[in-house]
Amino acid sequence: MKITMIGTGYVGLVSGACFADFGHDVVCVDKDSSKIAAIESGQMPIYEPGLDQLVGGNAAAGRLSFTTDLAAGVKGADAIFIAVGTPSRRGDGHADLSYVYAAAREIAEALDGPAVIVTKSTVPVGTGDEVERIAREARPDLDIAVVSNPEFLREGAAISDFKRPDRIVVGTTGDERAINAMQQIYRPLYLNQAPLLFTGRRTAELIKYAANAFLATKITFINEMADLCEAVGAEVQDVARGIGLDNRIGSKFLHAGPGYGGSCFPKDTLALVKTGQDHETPIRIVETVVQVNDLRKRAMGRKIVKAMGGDARGKTVALLGLTFKPNTDDMRDAPSIAIVQALEDAGAKVVAYDPEGMAAASALMPGITMATDAYSAAQGADALVLVTEWNAFRALDLKRLAASMNAPVLVDLRNIYPAAEVRAAGFSLTRIGDKAVD
Ligand code: NAD
Repeated sequence: MKITMIGTGYVGLVSGACFADFGHDVVCVDKDSSKIAAIESGQMPIYEPGLDQLVGGNAAAGRLSFTTDLAAGVKGADAIFIAVGTPSRRGDGHADLSYVYAAAREIAEALDGPAVIVTKSTVPVGTGDEVERIAREARPDLDIAVVSNPEFLREGAAISDFKRPDRIVVGTTGDERAINAMQQIYRPLYLNQAPLLFTGRRTAELIKYAANAFLATKITFINEMADLCEAVGAEVQDVARGIGLDNRIGSKFLHAGPGYGGSCFPKDTLALVKTGQDHETPIRIVETVVQVNDLRKRAMGRKIVKAMGGDARGKTVALLGLTFKPNTDDMRDAPSIAIVQALEDAGAKVVAYDPEGMAAASALMPGITMATDAYSAAQGADALVLVTEWNAFRALDLKRLAASMNAPVLVDLRNIYPAAEVRAAGFSLTRIGDKAVD
């Protein structure tokens, strides 16, 4: 199959490279010429483990190419995937669909024959109808089918998620040609028994939001349990294990922390809330989740100040980790942004180290100082805060850290370190959901 990917970001580049690895002939298009130039010179525009080898290998084999010329990229394609961004719209939190609609129009205008347009971007219910309307309006002469195929990959594990998905959701309006094309595109995964779930197009669009909202709810639930644990002297990690071992609940997404962030959960929960309100079926659970999570991120700043004796003015706080999770350089809506803001508002000076996120972070938090590693970040600091659980932070020499600090205060927002070990190193410790060691 000849596949064109419009948008070569986290989703488009990984999906395009994986499709090429399945043996398809893939062209990835992006209007950002610096991104395309970087990829062509072997430089990945994002950090994703294994991506450079996957892209390099498939490009060398002639199955994967890149261009800024959308019209050229679309020519002769059996399926054109839209993988452009759908950020929150400024002001009201609805998904901004302008990139999707612009891409749909450009694709339709460039088509040289019947085609299947596949929306991979996360888009609200009904977007496929509008994409179809735009495409038909631009090219009434052509037979164009529009399919929804939401993406569920996670940054940091994107390649294995794409190649071994729990499920592939394909929403159509029943068009046989579109269904056949999608079956052919994903057939290489059948060896791994990937379940292809065909649904209506609107249903597929909603599945993506329902999945993300459910996971965000699970995280927020355990975060509120963590607060209760702190108030009553219980331990949230044991609560999570105690409920997670029940198969009906499951142990994943039950790690209490500083609140969810990233490029998907915050914007997708908000967009689902808006969709519910627009259709007069408010989704109150998700409305509450959004509110609780927003407040939580800033509350983490206050928690750090409290661990420093209630006053951070003139003091230095060292943050380990800035990205919203490990193994990505993505800083979109990372909890660290609100934490840094709260600390700066409290008069603290912030020093930080992140293995991959510092380039993106320095534009978002210009007031902070970037360190070269965890130990230099901690040097002379009045508190050390574990924000993101990168592997590099999981086995630090705690004694060395404590000895180099002005005040040995550790705030472990990911509950990585056992309390006894931290205490033995001379630290005072604050964890999430664990009053006993405060
Ligand atoms: P991204 O910002 O990394 O990439 C989007 C790319 O599209 C950018 O490089 C941009 O230059 C390009 N683009 C925009 N308009 C274009 C056009 N008309 N022609 C060519 N290129 C164009 O975004 P992302 O993180 O890859 O997300 C893309 C979509 O996938 C979003 O809807 C997101 O919600 C969804 N999604 C993301 C993830 C994730 O983990 N990042 C996971 C699942 C779904």
